[in-house]
Amino acid sequence: MATTRQQVAQANQALTRALVVAATQGQRAPCSDLAIRDHWTSERETERRQAARWCIEWQCPVLTECGQAAEANDERWGVWGAVDRSVRPGKKLQRQSEAA
Ligand code: SF4
Repeated sequence: MATTRQQVAQANQALTRALVVAATQGQRAPCSDLAIRDHWTSERETERRQAARWCIEWQCPVLTECGQAAEANDERWGVWGAVDRSVRPGKKLQRQSEAA
C-alpha cells in the first residue's frame, strides 16, 4: 500500500516528538553516539548487524517510532528501528532479534 505524504509527515513528526521526549528524560538514541554511529550506515553488513543489535540491547527509547518513520519514508539503506533496511529487492526485512 502506498504511503501518503500525510502519513510520511505524521511518522516523521512522531519520531521527532519521541526524540524530544526522550531527551527531556535524559535518554538518547544509541545511533547518536558519534563514536559508533557509522555502524548504522556502514557498507559492511556485519557492522550494520551490530548496530541493529545495539538498537535493542541498549533499549533505544524511540525504537518503534524510528521503524515506523523508516517504513513511511521507504528507507532503503542503513539500520532503522533495529532493522537493516539495506536489502535487495525481494529480500524480507527482518529485525535482528528475529534473525537469530
Ligand atoms: S532504533 Fe532508530 S533511533 Fe534508535 S538507535 Fe536504532 S536506528 Fe537509532
